[in-house]
Amino acid sequence: MRLIDLHTHTTLSDGTDPPAEVVRRAARLGLAAVAITDHDTADGLPEALAEGRDLDLEVVPGVELGVEVGLKRSAHLVGLWLDPTEPRLAESLVWAQGARRRRNLAMIRRLAELGWPLDLERLNARAAGGLGRPHLAAALVEAGAAKSQSEAFARFLAVDAPGFVPKERLGSAEAIGLLRGAGAVPVLAHPGILGLGWAALDELLGRLRAQGLEGLEAYYGEADWPRQQRLITMAAKHGLAVSGGSDFHGAAKPGVLLGFGGGTLRVPASLLPGLRARRQRAPGEPAEPI
Ligand code: AMP
Ligand code: ZN
Ligand code: FE
Ligand code: FE
Repeated sequence: MRLIDLHTHTTLSDGTDPPAEVVRRAARLGLAAVAITDHDTADGLPEALAEGRDLDLEVVPGVELGVEVGLKRSAHLVGLWLDPTEPRLAESLVWAQGARRRRNLAMIRRLAELGWPLDLERLNARAAGGLGRPHLAAALVEAGAAKSQSEAFARFLAVDAPGFVPKERLGSAEAIGLLRGAGAVPVLAHPGILGLGWAALDELLGRLRAQGLEGLEAYYGEADWPRQQRLITMAAKHGLAVSGGSDFHGAAKPGVLLGFGGGTLRVPASLLPGLRARRQRAPGEPAEPI
């Protein structure tokens, strides 16, 4: 069975491998396709796509956006096969990067109040562009505030922890519209992070589907096989295509392997046609009919 990975991060957000290296790793593993889905940025895509062409590996250009769905936590949308030059999406990514910067500053201020002043310049030096909570976690560990990144999250950075500041986020309808407008297939990623029961997730999927959602990540590391099966059934019920990915972050999440998640993840390449069929237009086709 050929395998794919449709959810990965690079140094352009909070991963530790540059885009070309993620693609090379995917090629070494023999994956049939890999999507690059950095948080709030498409800046890693040209490098990844070029490497994919060199290695004859399908690279799916993507992005991951945290969006408002009326819950304390953000839902994460992965947009697959997007056109990063589409102006409205490009503008929204610039806005999202600004929201991220404002939020980082507020969290750094909060952490200083809690007795852990961090140096913004040093933080920026460790992040190529997309500074985020994992970088703050690493800095807190270095400063001695926590023994591990997961402890740093639990004590300071998680949604309920004292250092947390929410990020301004797009509404789900708006984000889905932006992704669709850029030709992308909008997919709800790792639904488990929302902490919902099955009935609430079912209701949310109905709502997001009505807003134009096209796919559900049913194969992901934290979902065991029975849960994956249940998500596949739920995707079918809502007319959603099934996607899957590891959420690879390189050494930032050493327990998450490209293609294989925690070790047992297998995302079949047979998902690709169903997902591709949801693309909003063929490659090269203009955004507006002429
Ligand atoms: P941000 O986009 O800056 O809010 O950071 C999100 C990143 O933090 C994602 O890559 C998450 O996987 C990671 N993250 C969120 N919660 C935790 C946690 N409790 N432990 C470790 N990493 C986390
Ligand atoms: Zn991340
Ligand atoms: Fe995510
Ligand atoms: Fe992710």
